[in-house]
Amino acid sequence: MLETICDIMVDAYKRNWITSRDGNVSIRHHDRDHFYITPSGVRKQTLQPDQFKKIKIVSSLMWRDELYTEISSALKPSGEIPLHFGLQKNMGQHSNDVRVVVHVHPTYCVAAMHAGIDLSTIVDSFPELSRYTKVAPNVGDVPPISQELADQCHKMLQLDKNGNIAYDIVGIKGHGVVAIDTSPWRAYEHIERLEHICKIVLASGNY
Ligand SMILES: [Zn+2]
Repeated sequence: MLETICDIMVDAYKRNWITSRDGNVSIRHHDRDHFYITPSGVRKQTLQPDQFKKIKIVSSLMWRDELYTEISSALKPSGEIPLHFGLQKNMGQHSNDVRVVVHVHPTYCVAAMHAGIDLSTIVDSFPELSRYTKVAPNVGDVPPISQELADQCHKMLQLDKNGNIAYDIVGIKGHGVVAIDTSPWRAYEHIERLEHICKIVLASGNY
């Protein structure tokens, strides 16, 4: 699946949902006490599976960087690791499966939040969105790669101590979105679906 994550980051780059070094993804299999996360500062359009960082879950408060490949040993994990660690240490409703967390900066989702739209409010008018994707209330202005960003995303997703979440995707004002599901493409589709509806809402001028 690391290969597939590389594919979705290339796709996100082609769609202008990230610039070269933006965006991050993590993946955990339910029966492993570690997860993989994209490294910090690498160009996502040339991301390779052997560049991923392997992160051991030591406790609910602590993670440790583990040796994975020689190439990745020279890299650091994504700066958004507090966001990913919180969602990967307990997998909640995905605990018999895989959990993938994808963070990118999709144009129309970010534009809609910039225009003052709470993304959770648009689902009512668009059944094709609400049928497949549960959208959390927006996170407000928080600094990137901060514990505050992680805490606010976890709060809006209603992450509980068992790792359950009430939503599939959350928007961060002035920044991007975070989507969660059991495969890279499933998580990505939540973003694609919300992006499509945000484009329609903004095109209508009715918001
Ligand atoms: Zn970001």
